[in-house]
Amino acid sequence: MPRPTKAAVERVVDTPALLVRRVDVGDQDVLATFFTRERGAVSVSVRRARAPKSRLGPIEPLHTLQLRLEILARADAVKLRDLAIVRARLALVEDPARLDAASRLLRWLRALAPANVPEPVAFDLVDAALDRIEDGPSAAATAVLAVAGLSLAAAFGYRLELDSCVRCSAPCPEGSSALLDPAAGGIVCRACGGGSVLMRAALRQSLRRAMRGEETELGRQDAERVADLAERTIAAHAKGQEARR
Ligand SMILES: [Zn+2]
Repeated sequence: MPRPTKAAVERVVDTPALLVRRVDVGDQDVLATFFTRERGAVSVSVRRARAPKSRLGPIEPLHTLQLRLEILARADAVKLRDLAIVRARLALVEDPARLDAASRLLRWLRALAPANVPEPVAFDLVDAALDRIEDGPSAAATAVLAVAGLSLAAAFGYRLELDSCVRCSAPCPEGSSALLDPAAGGIVCRACGGGSVLMRAALRQSLRRAMRGEETELGRQDAERVADLAERTIAAHAKGQEARR
């Protein structure tokens, strides 16, 4: 039974997290939304976060954080007790291509993440992709983003079907190009009306390998194309237009 004390702390949760949205409030406060490994999306109001001597230090995106959250018994409210940067990704900020890829990935995460649900698979996937975007060549940032985006959609239950038609289940033969409809969830064959996105056979093969976790090279144009496909897949399942630029 919950005790009658108001704002009683029900439990304390320690969790890795990424900042996915930050809104400045007033002179010194911040409304921060984190994607946490243990509780999914969590929004907290942080008083004096922008004060020169903030107890928590700067609250910035791109870095992997470790949070201590107090879950209050009342109305599922959450308080941020502690925040530490466990992996700083300063190099992401210095390179426009890397920064763009990382920011898009965090935006997609924000668009898909449900509140109060543990999401270890999605968290680990995004955390690892941010590392690869930072550590890999700048020219490969969009390719990492593209594969991570499709994998992220799959982690939330929206896997893009690349093998057969989502309407009639007819298999798309090896070596054939395919027509995709991201909102429908994958291939829509000609007999079923055809998807609006044409994907060449070679790219479809590469993507199927990438989605199985195999090392795959995507050229720059293909990477852009697939990133767009991932964005449209995620936007079809996100609230509003949050996933789009
Ligand atoms: Zn069909």
